[in-house]
Amino acid sequence: MVVNQKLEAALEALKGDMLETLGRWIQVPSVRSDPAENAPFGVEVRRALDTAMADIARLGMNPRDVDGYCCDAEIGQGEETIAVLAHLDVVPEGDGWHDAPYGATIRDGRMIGRGTADDKGPAVAALFAMKALVDAGVPLGKRVRLILGCDEESGMEDLTYYEEKIGLPACGFSPDANFPMINTEKGITAMTLTASVQDERLISIQSGTRSNVVPGLAVAVVKGDIREQAAEAYECDNESCEIETSLEDGNTIIRITGIPAHGSMPDKGVNAAKHLLAVLYRLGIGGDSIAALYETTGTENDGRGLGIAGADEISGKLTLNLGLLSVTAGQLSVTYDCRYPVMYNGETVRRLVAACLGERGFVMEPGRDSKPHHVPESSALVTKMMNVYNEIMGTEARPYAIGGGTYARHLKEGVAFGMIFPGEQELEHQADESIDIENFYKAARIYAYSIAALCE
Ligand SMILES: [Zn+2]
Repeated sequence: MVVNQKLEAALEALKGDMLETLGRWIQVPSVRSDPAENAPFGVEVRRALDTAMADIARLGMNPRDVDGYCCDAEIGQGEETIAVLAHLDVVPEGDGWHDAPYGATIRDGRMIGRGTADDKGPAVAALFAMKALVDAGVPLGKRVRLILGCDEESGMEDLTYYEEKIGLPACGFSPDANFPMINTEKGITAMTLTASVQDERLISIQSGTRSNVVPGLAVAVVKGDIREQAAEAYECDNESCEIETSLEDGNTIIRITGIPAHGSMPDKGVNAAKHLLAVLYRLGIGGDSIAALYETTGTENDGRGLGIAGADEISGKLTLNLGLLSVTAGQLSVTYDCRYPVMYNGETVRRLVAACLGERGFVMEPGRDSKPHHVPESSALVTKMMNVYNEIMGTEARPYAIGGGTYARHLKEGVAFGMIFPGEQELEHQADESIDIENFYKAARIYAYSIAALCE
């Protein structure tokens, strides 16, 4: 990487504008809501899109409104196009903030606000990297297309629409995750199985909100007074988890709290549903369907009890999250979120699970399988961008694999690239989301040189 003095000067000159622009973007609470005219994801998301397009135009680029689903803008010339995918929508602010969630407060070298890290900060960094390349007159032998989506957090309808209406470039990156780079995303399949419960004592179970979250709460209602036995059967060495029991109308309510976590990293949480299964199993409640679940998935998160455990060198281990569990009117339903390695086949995973639990009376429902995504480390895309990153950071970092799905999997050859640096706190989707302002500028510099390298 050759340091380009004009580019350095352009990046430096844009810093104030970058920060001011991000502040205005943060002040729009662009959480998805009911659709309105020309606003498929609600008026606030529309306002974020209008704000972004006005800034893109102000910076001398030509924004295109893709019916409120996305906007895009291009620089450079040539046959090929490099895509840069980021998004303008945010998840709801939630509770526990020490500052106004949409205040864009600046303190101690950080900007605080929902969307600073995910994903308005990275979007602004990428936009100003492009602006700096134009200002510095860096020759670009390819076109660079910034695409800003409006529905990344709620279902990715934005890029599906864009893909159908306009078409996505084959190659590019998404600044919507971590540095150094994510070049591998495991396959994702959600598996729902049902069975009948042959034990009238078990009246109901309720646990989980979404299959891709480790349940933090599990509640069961069991006939009779088994408060003492249930408390005795409960075993958990994590002190912030607990069991509570109470008696209502002659039934015992068992309430177990765990620790929620993202379903792609089940080991980071404590699964309340699994602890409930263990209690019921030890007391012999729930018949063979509860026993089958406990014996196959009650303890491990790697699918070994279902015969699907495994790993490959590129992606690491398979993970299995028991995300949803319910029993009502004698019907049990369980949903697993499985993240499987690149070398695996999702259909085989599903077939093995259906067969294993099928022997114990379970039936699997049809479900979605999102194929694994992988861009080889030897590809031009990965090597060029990693070279820039490593030279700027003075590291010898290599790309890595995750279990989650990013925007990058929409591109045939796409990687996730920043902008959370290694060792930085991961605050996306949490209270007090914020970014380090110097790292924000650094990310813009990495993006600028990376784009220049890709367009040589
Ligand atoms: Zn995001």
